Amino acid sequence: MIIDLKSILLAPRRFEFSLEPGWWQEDQENDQIIGLDGPLKVEINIAKAGTKYVLDGHLSGRLIIRCDRCLEQYGSDLESGFRLFLAISPSGTGQSELELLEDDMGIDFLSGNEIDLEEVVRAQIYLSLPMKCLCSEDCLGLCPFCGVNLNVETCGCQSEKRHPAFLKMKNLKLKGGTE
Ligand SMILES: [Zn+2]
Ligand SMILES: [Zn+2]
Repeated sequence: MIIDLKSILLAPRRFEFSLEPGWWQEDQENDQIIGLDGPLKVEINIAKAGTKYVLDGHLSGRLIIRCDRCLEQYGSDLESGFRLFLAISPSGTGQSELELLEDDMGIDFLSGNEIDLEEVVRAQIYLSLPMKCLCSEDCLGLCPFCGVNLNVETCGCQSEKRHPAFLKMKNLKLKGGTE
């Protein structure tokens, strides 16, 4: 959903829409988020404030996330509010350009005077992730020796004496194909 900010004059504009699970596209470089678990409700309010724009948004839904430790999928509620400030600034070519004032996220969603609300949502979903995504606080992860998921299986490796280097490996992500 692409909005021309110049269409927002005195009255703020409100956008409400739902994104269906099929909307989510996996990102090869960041595959922590597998997708949406049901529709994602989006509410975005855009208001003009002087020469700037204030975008207030709220996301509500559920994500399917990959656990950093055991690599299994789990569901996680997403309930997140955000605020962005934008400005249209004149550029050298005489064309105006939209500028994100607080640069805490990518600016892929800005082009000329237009903002792509779905890209804003996508960026906010990534920002909503915790530093570490765990299916549960006490997720046991994968066995560093045989790779079984220790939450669901036990293996004989536990009783063997571990070299400290192997203990460290336990926390490494074992994903990403090399073929
Ligand atoms: Zn886990
Ligand atoms: Zn094992």
